[in-house]
Amino acid sequence: MSKEELECSFCGRKKADTSLLIAGLDAHICDRCIEQAHGIVMEEALHTGNNELSKEMMLKKPKAIKTFLDDYIIGQDQTKKVMSVAVYNHYKRLLQPKSDDDVEIQKSNIVIVGQTGTGKTLIAKTIARMLNVPLAIVDATVLTEAGYVGEDVESILTRLLQAADYNLEKAQNGIVFIDEIDKIARKSDNPSITRDVSGEGVQQALLKLLEGTTVNVPPKGGRKHPDQKFIEVNTENILFIAGGAFDGIERHISKRLNMQAVGFSASKNDGGVQKDNLLRYIIPRDLKDFGLIPEIIGRLPVLAYMNPLDKGTLRAILTEPKNAIIKQYKKLFEMDDIDFVITEEALDYIVDQAIEYKLGARGLRSLCEAVLTDAMFELPGTDDHEIHVTQEYAQEKLSKSTIKKLKAVS
Ligand code: ADP
Repeated sequence: MSKEELECSFCGRKKADTSLLIAGLDAHICDRCIEQAHGIVMEEALHTGNNELSKEMMLKKPKAIKTFLDDYIIGQDQTKKVMSVAVYNHYKRLLQPKSDDDVEIQKSNIVIVGQTGTGKTLIAKTIARMLNVPLAIVDATVLTEAGYVGEDVESILTRLLQAADYNLEKAQNGIVFIDEIDKIARKSDNPSITRDVSGEGVQQALLKLLEGTTVNVPPKGGRKHPDQKFIEVNTENILFIAGGAFDGIERHISKRLNMQAVGFSASKNDGGVQKDNLLRYIIPRDLKDFGLIPEIIGRLPVLAYMNPLDKGTLRAILTEPKNAIIKQYKKLFEMDDIDFVITEEALDYIVDQAIEYKLGARGLRSLCEAVLTDAMFELPGTDDHEIHVTQEYAQEKLSKSTIKKLKAVS
């Protein structure tokens, strides 16, 4: 058979129509069929529970999970470690034999504390990608107790169903990231919260979901279930990751540390406490002092924190992750046959601007966009096949109106 005639032996797609065609002894298989087959194997593995196949497929060891996270997330080593173990244990729990003994492994839902833009959502996204499971990202601030204006907590599961394309089985093994969990803290302990619907009520409503229960979920606009009113979703195997900035929680941490330090002052002197990042000393009690109810904290047993992003980390975020921003621009230019080069000084300059205007990691993208938009507009289709971005070039592009707009936003 000549090269042009090669086709997938499963779906018949011609080689030219595939991204990848792998040859076997007597047959070929294309990328799409591999993915589909992989999905079937994974689903089968989940169904059959504790067989050898599922163990091998599902149980990427914690070290391998961390290595995967390392490709996408810069720094945050301790958190990546904690998350790797939590995810590993979560999936071990799913695979535990049904009636082995009385030891039942509890869910390892996670709560991540860290300033906005430090990668909390990114870590949840990366884990979902690694496990090939659906992910729903929801904002706790829109949730209200049933009966109030706003979204019931069940809407979280509607989102997950949508993310799973209404495949119930997939949704029930998916991940939910609840952002801004700190905003539903009890008001009395946290005077800065100005919502008028009781945060505590929402916390109560979340409890059952986190623990594992069966919920009737309205599919809302469900394309594939036009006449079905509710879908019964079991949250037993859904991994919940909650994230929040918990602004001001350092006060509670330092108060607790001080009290401990007084108690141990004779033996501890300074106690070796590093004051620059108190989050590293966080314990569940601090979340309680902040205003989360103990029951919620109990159902989010894994506590992780994100370090603030320093200059070195921001610089690395630009170029190092597998899909780093600079790599993405390089690829975009490459598609137009344009060689994109950016100097170290220009990269440093962009990072400095992100710091100066307090834009964080999210700002890196807007800054790059501001620097490169002209080139991306002008160059394609011309004889110019090279763009060389120096610090002066970046400075000039940013000195136009955009940087002022960015400043206004920050
Ligand atoms: P959060 O959920 O904590 O507010 P995000 O996860 O949305 O923050 O992060 C915002 C963006 O910043 C991400 O899309 C990512 O590009 C970048 N980012 C933040 N922290 C990191 C990190 N440690 N490594 C790589 N990229 C990061």
